[in-house]
Amino acid sequence: MSEEVNPFESLQSQIDGAAAHMDVGEDVLERLKHPERVLETNLTVEMDDGSLDRFRAFRSQFNGDRGPYKGGIRYHPDVTRDEVKALSGWMVYKCATVGIPYGGGKGGIVIDPDDYSEAELERITRAFAKELRPLIGEDRDIPAPDVNTGQREMNWIKDTYETLENTTAPGVVTGKAPDSGGSAGRVEATGRSTVIAAREAFDYLDTDLEGATVAVQGYGNAGWIAAKLIDEMGATVVAASDSSGGIYSDDGFDPVAAKDHKNETGSVVGFEGADEEITNEELLTLDVDLLIPAALENAIDEGIAGDVRADVISEAANGPITPAADEVLAGKDVLVIPDILANAGGVTVSYFEWVQNRQRFYWTEERVNEELEAIVVDAFDALIDTYEEHGLDTLRTAAYVVAIRRVVDAFEQGGSWP
Ligand code: GLU
Repeated sequence: MSEEVNPFESLQSQIDGAAAHMDVGEDVLERLKHPERVLETNLTVEMDDGSLDRFRAFRSQFNGDRGPYKGGIRYHPDVTRDEVKALSGWMVYKCATVGIPYGGGKGGIVIDPDDYSEAELERITRAFAKELRPLIGEDRDIPAPDVNTGQREMNWIKDTYETLENTTAPGVVTGKAPDSGGSAGRVEATGRSTVIAAREAFDYLDTDLEGATVAVQGYGNAGWIAAKLIDEMGATVVAASDSSGGIYSDDGFDPVAAKDHKNETGSVVGFEGADEEITNEELLTLDVDLLIPAALENAIDEGIAGDVRADVISEAANGPITPAADEVLAGKDVLVIPDILANAGGVTVSYFEWVQNRQRFYWTEERVNEELEAIVVDAFDALIDTYEEHGLDTLRTAAYVVAIRRVVDAFEQGGSWP
């Protein structure tokens, strides 16, 4: 990850880039570029040995014009205030791009979860949930999983909130386990929208996904599911990586077996079904038809972009391409499906989960997947229309043009308040 690029500045430059093609006042534009509020807190938590440890944590509520703040909570040692602000802003424009009735938020704890026991992680999560309690709620702000968090953490947050509030409110978080009110299809949803969007892009370019070669950077929940689903669609996964390194096979490998190997050993590296080991940088510059960055921000910076040889990139991660790299890729006619569409399946199925929680009525996985498919395909078509109509350079700018318009309309329709 290139350290110089601040994700919050990337977000602001993406907004400016789209606003240049729109009629939005400078004053309104300022509002679109800054969070409404950011909680910064220090959690003091007892460790298993009886000592106390302190953890910095953040929750940014970027914009609530279109509905409750919505977005995940990540556990990572590199979490910063600006990163969380950026991620919360991306959530605003993601929800608007796919037309679901939410604003955007994001949270994070500065922690490497591998260094702590499950009991310690539970106490840390509950301490954060206690700090979040006055801010969150089914109609206020709804956290969800993100990097290094999942059903387990969401179940703890729900339980802490419900206990302190003396109520049942399963819709206060999404991404829960099914028996705690989670939705069918939620775990797969981010990877699923990433590949649906890629399929639509191939169709738009009039190229075949069947037999296309695919490289996946990052083999967490988003990356490995994307690899599995694209393989099922007939493409060939030739490369995958995680923070320890990557693997490559000219004629492809079984993405599920690679995940089993990672579950057993902690990494895809050493997987016997692949021919070679490669670095993350080598993976990003492979001559493949489709590249799926599914790790962290800034994976593809200006330097690497010049060497990228993929034809299509579908962003499963948030913010994996820097604004300068975006320009380089556009100049090389690489079609980039932006994160705020490609990975929007996660928050879209979170929305379905919340709807089911509010109605106490649960859907089949088939229904979840059908409704997700319809939303992603419609949103993709809307981006293509805007891209062509305005003659834009990138689908990212098209997505921001669509999304900013929706946020501005909601804000302006609300009128002013003294
Ligand atoms: N963390 C995911 C994202 O970045 C999901 C957010 C959600 O479901 O609210 O989109």
